[in-house]
Amino acid sequence: MRGFILHTTLVKEEDLVVTILTKNKILRLYRFYGARHSTINVGFLIDFEEEETSVQINRLRNVMQIGFEFLLDINKMMIWQNFIKLFNEHFFEVEEIDSFYFDLLMDILNNFDRNPKRVLVENYIKLLEFEGRLHNEFECFLCEKPINNRVNLARGYLTACEECIPKKGFEIEKIKTLFNEKKTLLLDEKEIESLYKILMLGI
Ligand SMILES: [Zn+2]
Repeated sequence: MRGFILHTTLVKEEDLVVTILTKNKILRLYRFYGARHSTINVGFLIDFEEEETSVQINRLRNVMQIGFEFLLDINKMMIWQNFIKLFNEHFFEVEEIDSFYFDLLMDILNNFDRNPKRVLVENYIKLLEFEGRLHNEFECFLCEKPINNRVNLARGYLTACEECIPKKGFEIEKIKTLFNEKKTLLLDEKEIESLYKILMLGI
């Protein structure tokens, strides 16, 4: 089986409970410590086997890490791992999932080297749309008035007017293009940084 490591919890000296996102499930498996085992790190894509046990939790076996290009780039790796942590929170106590999420992570991974923050912002829009949480009617979620000029975004990319969230917003056309086409073409690096920071508040 193949999956992304979302989280690890240390139990009993060196053993781990490992949370893995696979195509249709979030698995929580027990991994006994052993010197010959490959490294288990949050964000890693792995091939593995799930071994049934007589106790409550199945065992994680034969882990093989699948390499990707940015693995040795500390900055990119940190951005990736921080995003994966949000995913872990998103699936807290969830067991069954749609294959959308695994495919989304694969897409992100395959394009990550290009410009990690842009790729995350674009794919987050896809996630919001898939979950029916993309607010592309451009009404302020606080005062409910239509937004015509500049738009501010809150956690979850909720749209607000500049009166309700008093800080400099984004040009509405840029955000409309982002929401409708899932493309960040019109946004400069500073704007991407702002969008990334909002994303990091939680998905
Ligand atoms: Zn408002």
